[in-house]
Amino acid sequence: MTEHFDYIAIGGGSGGIASANRAASYGKKCAIVEANLLGGTCVNVGCVPKKAMWFAGHIAEALKLAPDYGFAVQAPALDWQQLCQSRDAYIGRIHSSYERVLGKNQVTVIQGFASFVDANTIDVNGVQYSADHISIATGGVPTWPAVPGAELGIDSDGFFALTEQPKRVAVIGAGYIAVEIAGVMNALGSETHLVVRHDKPLRSFDAMLSDTLTQLMQQQGVMLHSHSEVTAVERLEDGSLLVKLSTGHALQVDCLIWAIGRTPNTAKLNLAAAGVHTDAQGFIPTDKFQNSNVPGIYAIGDNTGRVALTPVAVAAGRRLAERLFNGKPDEHLNYDLVPTVVFSHPPIGTIGLTEAQARDEYGDDAIKVYSSEFTAMYRALTSHREPTRMKLICAGPTEKVVGLHVIGFAADEMLQGFAVAIKMGATKADFDNCVAIHPTSAEEFVTMR
Ligand code: FAD
Ligand code: NDP
Repeated sequence: MTEHFDYIAIGGGSGGIASANRAASYGKKCAIVEANLLGGTCVNVGCVPKKAMWFAGHIAEALKLAPDYGFAVQAPALDWQQLCQSRDAYIGRIHSSYERVLGKNQVTVIQGFASFVDANTIDVNGVQYSADHISIATGGVPTWPAVPGAELGIDSDGFFALTEQPKRVAVIGAGYIAVEIAGVMNALGSETHLVVRHDKPLRSFDAMLSDTLTQLMQQQGVMLHSHSEVTAVERLEDGSLLVKLSTGHALQVDCLIWAIGRTPNTAKLNLAAAGVHTDAQGFIPTDKFQNSNVPGIYAIGDNTGRVALTPVAVAAGRRLAERLFNGKPDEHLNYDLVPTVVFSHPPIGTIGLTEAQARDEYGDDAIKVYSSEFTAMYRALTSHREPTRMKLICAGPTEKVVGLHVIGFAADEMLQGFAVAIKMGATKADFDNCVAIHPTSAEEFVTMR
């Protein structure tokens, strides 16, 4: 007999787990189907292991500053296996915690790959399950290019599976993942090449951010190959890789990492059986309530083609559960003004419009830009100075803050509080009315003239 649920989430990642736990908290009978590991991309091959590697890079950088702070240390060699062991043990503790919470909420975890039988029924390993409401929260996978020899490289999943630190690495791509992995590998001492198709990475970010990051990455030793595409990859006799570029140059490296975007995980779900539409790229279009085109079937997170961030998937999933099971018919996620951090070296924090977008939207005359550049005290004491740059973009006569951008030490921990203010509609005067916290970098945002 087919087991029936109130709610099934296909995918036990950020969106699926959050939505099922919230639905279960209202007494609903819920299940999660997960083909791989609980926690999905974020916990297993995304935010969490990435941040662990980023912290390792941060420590390597701190060791360089240590002598100026009076510590006569020589940077010790990195034990890559120890780093991975600590990282993976931490992830193991997150798995246990998820299992505990899902168990407490009586959410059934079904291990296996789900596909649709009809609009209310799915099949997992030959067993059918039905539900009144089904969410598709299947995330995405790294995109691979059609380049001869591409398979000799790895993707971000493969990066987290490396058992040894490659001495020379080429990272291909220009988005979050490319700059984060290139930054980590460079900070940890690998010879690092970053290959981008256009002039610089993070082209869609405010130009101040992408220009500063490009400049600092190069100063730190990352070799940037701009206007370059990979035309072929070959294995050399010594086991290393030859990465041929469209410019005629070739790179000899031990590891090539593709970081050219992600593809939604929707192709094998047999969506046709349920009548669910996808767009040309495989994303599932949804309205503001996460409804797909089929009543009772929803999509949450990366496979919707909206902002691909864990807290977005979590927030959309929780709001969906509130709407369906807690009598809040209008509950939905507002996708405007989502703050985001790139864990580059140094990190970037950004929310709202870039300066170019703001000028387009409001016109040059209605925009006032405040900016600041300084060396954070953490580095100003040392011979390893590095700029922090900030920008506040204000619109209209009230100078409403429509964009806030920062790159520099501690930018990652700076953004959240400002994002609350901006989401509430703060103006430049509101920023100025808040007394600074001294000495910090963040205080610059409330003292700009
Ligand atoms: P996922 O977390 O990807 O979960 C989908 C789950 O569905 C997976 O576990 C998959 O196995 C399962 N699945 C797929 N198909 C089926 C099926 N048919 N049946 C059963 N199970 C299925 N975001 C941030 O906010 N901050 C960061 O610092 C950050 N860093 C990142 C670093 C990297 C390297 C990557 C790749 C991503 C990062 N992200 C980050 C993005 C973040 O991981 C995603 O936005 C988030 O995980 C999306 O959640 P989701 O629920 O949509 O999908
Ligand atoms: P992104 O979409 O961020 O960036 C991929 C970039 O690679 C493109 O923008 C493009 O830049 C370039 N590219 C695309 N195709 C090719 C190609 N064939 N050859 C060379 N370059 C190519 O994807 P990511 O995979 O980096 O990350 C996916 C998403 O995951 C992010 O957008 C983000 O939402 C999330 N994420 C969040 C993180 C965080 O919060 N810190 C960290 C990591 C991921 P161009 O057009 O300039 O060449």
